[in-house]
Amino acid sequence: VKKRWNRREFLTLAGLVAAGALAACTMDRRSPSGPRSTTTPFLPDDTSTPSQTPRVSSTPTRTRTPRATQTPTYSYAQLKNSISDKERAFLASHEVHQGDKGRSIILMTYDDGGMQSAIEKILAAYAAIGAHTTFFINGWWMVARPDLVEEMIDQGHVVGCHGYEHVAYNTLSESAIHQDIEKFLSAADGLFPGYPFHFIRFPYGNRDQRARDIAASYGLQSVMWTFESGGMQANTYDVIMSKLENGAICLSHSTREYDINDVTRILDGILGRGYNLATIADGLSSADRW
Ligand SMILES: [Zn+2]
Repeated sequence: VKKRWNRREFLTLAGLVAAGALAACTMDRRSPSGPRSTTTPFLPDDTSTPSQTPRVSSTPTRTRTPRATQTPTYSYAQLKNSISDKERAFLASHEVHQGDKGRSIILMTYDDGGMQSAIEKILAAYAAIGAHTTFFINGWWMVARPDLVEEMIDQGHVVGCHGYEHVAYNTLSESAIHQDIEKFLSAADGLFPGYPFHFIRFPYGNRDQRARDIAASYGLQSVMWTFESGGMQANTYDVIMSKLENGAICLSHSTREYDINDVTRILDGILGRGYNLATIADGLSSADRW
């Protein structure tokens, strides 16, 4: 776990982490706990069918003035150098499909971005029960709505990378994968200096070992899912309730009607069945935790 902080230490040393930003990022990567998981279900590479969700055309309600610390004074080559070969190898070979099976936890995840009303509805539902979740956001959306991303971070949720452009990485050249990830991390560094990105959900779940290797070189670990909520059908709640199991990672979308509008009912249903909610950072099995 300690190694995991190399990047943050590096950023701190580079003088990029403003005190305020650091305080906002109470990224408690807790020490490993709970029994080690057994095998995780295998979702084969490159099988997801792309189903592009439409981009939200809402205009930002708040334009941000650049922070003084916005200009990165390091290169991604340096960032990559700060990640040890051992960490890189671990991350590239530990794609996550399920959290800790030894704990009664559900790891909800919300992909893509979405409208302000949707994000705030989801945030309010979690705030009401004092729980946290994980958002995998697209870079273009982060740039369009940094205010909403800041709310996620400020409220203690985990924000992960979902690519910048939401393209299927298995269709990209290696250099194009590097470019998309660097575009995301570069934009994130400008907006949220020092916020540590540890996880990536590849767009559409499309990826191959090449993509995992490249992501790992930036300190990013691939997170897939145990089951999908659907989110576009009225039975979304029932689907989720029928698939709950220890450590399950649920793929939801902050752009999909039933994932958004039924969020309170879904969270109540999960808690009512004796599970707690966990973020990806908190809910990993010790076997998958760097
Ligand atoms: Zn997506």
